[in-house]
Amino acid sequence: MASYDVIIIGAGPGGYVSAIRCAQLGLKTAVVEGRDTLGGTCLNVGCIPSKALLHASHMLHEAEHNFAAMGLKGKSPSVDWKQMLAYKDDTIGQNTGGIEFLFKKNKIDWLKGWGSIPEAGKVKVGDELHDAKHIVVASGSAPATLPGVEIDEKTIVSSTGALTLAKIPKKLVVIGAGVIGLELGSVYARLGSEVTVVEYMDAITPGMDADVQRTFKRILEKQGLTFVMGAAVQSAKAGKGKATVTYKTKKDDTEATIEADIVLVATGRKPYVDGLGLDALGVEMTPRGQIKTNAHWQTNVAGLYAIGDVIEGPMLAHKAEDEGMAVAEVMAGKHGHVNYGVIPGVVYTSPEVATVGKTEAQLKEEGVKTKVGKFMFMGNARAKAVHQGDGFVKIITDATTDRVLGAAIIGPAAGDMIHELCVAMEFGASAEDIALTCHAHPTYSEAVREAALACGDGAIHA
Ligand code: FAD
Repeated sequence: MASYDVIIIGAGPGGYVSAIRCAQLGLKTAVVEGRDTLGGTCLNVGCIPSKALLHASHMLHEAEHNFAAMGLKGKSPSVDWKQMLAYKDDTIGQNTGGIEFLFKKNKIDWLKGWGSIPEAGKVKVGDELHDAKHIVVASGSAPATLPGVEIDEKTIVSSTGALTLAKIPKKLVVIGAGVIGLELGSVYARLGSEVTVVEYMDAITPGMDADVQRTFKRILEKQGLTFVMGAAVQSAKAGKGKATVTYKTKKDDTEATIEADIVLVATGRKPYVDGLGLDALGVEMTPRGQIKTNAHWQTNVAGLYAIGDVIEGPMLAHKAEDEGMAVAEVMAGKHGHVNYGVIPGVVYTSPEVATVGKTEAQLKEEGVKTKVGKFMFMGNARAKAVHQGDGFVKIITDATTDRVLGAAIIGPAAGDMIHELCVAMEFGASAEDIALTCHAHPTYSEAVREAALACGDGAIHA
């Protein structure tokens, strides 16, 4: 038995980042992780492997569609799927190994195994019982499914199974047009699968502004994805290496079926708290099964905190990381803070889609008078030079103060460019502040400045 200042359960982006910050602040820290490698969902079966496959398949797409126009002629590469998976696994290994190195460097103990909390201040891992002044639950999330749809990770797969398919399917049906479904759908569409996305709502990527949703859907359709919108999936059944998805259209309740080699269920994720013993401890939960916390990530049990996907808020790695750092500060007697109003969201398709702050629709509902500055990438020289002229930057400001309240970008490197707007929002900047800032030419970021100019007297290249 060992005694710690802090024991964190789960080594995902929430848990491992929190552990490093705790150690930096002088707290004796251990992390319990049941997987064979550190890094949680994100590094093992989430952000990192999906981005590796997105990158590889994007390279193929470039070779097939854009090389010849640039004078790069010759046969496009063929796909060695085994090697692509090996590249993905190597990327995972480099990253998970990196976290192990950081644990050693910061003298953080990895307690290997599945942990539970038999009583306040104690963590059990295997037969060992450990003491901790503070315990942080960072146990993350697991894929959610639908009634009538049983995931077997072979024919009917979650995102985890979709990252290790035995072969590239001829026909793939994706249930759910959210971020994960569209990213993985894009991967397989680029690799030659016939991809159909079935979505219950009438628009893709719920929560985004309608103009962003429309443009994004049009671009994905151009890339070969087919959408069945307003369709409630009734069941997905596997048999003889094939699957059948049955859905009812919301409009007229008619039933239809689609055959597929693989069905990817991408209908969201649910908090994962299995085996922790939270019930017996009397930990309060939200109606959606998340651990309930206050503004300092404390639960109703003294000394027990929770962060990341297992609590409320967007299920994003960087949100978990921010909470991990902030809760470490709180436990060290400092002031941890997360600004939930400025958490970017990114879809890593090509082009990328990135958003931050409030949408135009949300602000309208709140009765805020807004001004919108929009600039199309067709007017951006750099984007056109790399065949990425589709999409736009949209900045939403308070019509009275010009303060930036939200933004969306569909375009090249949108996931990186959004941070200029995040920083502007953190500093309470106006669109004019961005418009007055010199932006290097020729860069994609000039489109951000042009959108800011469009909030005032007008963009130059529009
Ligand atoms: P997790 O990363 O889920 O880690 C929790 C860890 O706790 C796991 O390793 C688990 O094994 C461990 N654990 C659970 N219970 C116990 C226990 N009792 N004992 C010991 N260990 C335990 N987010 C982004 O921001 N950007 C992206 O591009 C992105 N892409 C994604 C792509 C996919 C396919 C998926 C599935 C997710 C993606 N996400 C992305 C979401 C992101 O992965 C999560 O938001 C993030 O991992 C949450 O971090 P976490 O620390 O809360 O939990």
